[in-house]
Amino acid sequence: MVARSLDPGRYGALIIDTHAHVSLDVYAKDRERVIDRAASAGVAFIEIGFDVESSIRSVDLAERIGGYCAVGVHPHEAKGKEPLEKMWRDIEALLSSPRVKAIGEIGLDYFRDLSPRNLQVEAFLRGLDLARAKYLPVVVHQREAEKDVLRLLTHAGHHKPIIFHCFSGDKSYLGKCLDLGGYIGLGGPLTYPRNAFLRDLVKYIPMDRILVETDCPYLPPQGRRGKRNEPAFIVEVVDILAQILDLPSARVASVTRDNAMRAFSLEEMPLPRLS
Ligand SMILES: [Zn+2]
Repeated sequence: MVARSLDPGRYGALIIDTHAHVSLDVYAKDRERVIDRAASAGVAFIEIGFDVESSIRSVDLAERIGGYCAVGVHPHEAKGKEPLEKMWRDIEALLSSPRVKAIGEIGLDYFRDLSPRNLQVEAFLRGLDLARAKYLPVVVHQREAEKDVLRLLTHAGHHKPIIFHCFSGDKSYLGKCLDLGGYIGLGGPLTYPRNAFLRDLVKYIPMDRILVETDCPYLPPQGRRGKRNEPAFIVEVVDILAQILDLPSARVASVTRDNAMRAFSLEEMPLPRLS
């Protein structure tokens, strides 16, 4: 059964979910249906890798659905089974696919600290170097590491867009991200009742810098709490943004779609279809 809110006609504009992990095993049994539901909701998505294996899978899925992806080493994965140099060499080899449109997700996570911080920093810097060398944007994951993330991004002198995925932080941090030319990714957390602070922050983001994302299977929007998230659920994020900005959902869908095309340098973005 398809919920009424997933009727594609409702928006009349493609929505781009800029951060999805549909190649994960949690979708192994019904990936085709998840992709179909996204397409019928008018949602295309960018698949994001977080280590070598998931990056390989991201490229593969992007090729099969006629979409795009990012490849990278997440800070949690910095202390991988293999040395960082080898991981990044394997990631670099994936850039031969025209489906790869960004390096990510990369960044620093001092909240969960699943890898030693020196390795997180090294992984992040290697990702930034590669992105700069290949003229690619970066998708940045940051938790409780604002200062270091800003310092390393500034030091890297990145000239392609920086996508601050699943943005969290205060007005001052937001301002610094915008000063770096950053795009601000907003997803499920924007719909959580306790996140009034984040909803309030939205009015300080220029319309042309807002991106919507699910980070599926994580962070389902409020209406789907406790469930596995998927790209089709992005409509709830678009709706709450429309409410906050006092705009029709269709307008939010089309503006964020244009932003995503610009941020990732996409010439076209078809609805996902498994071949
Ligand atoms: Zn992610």
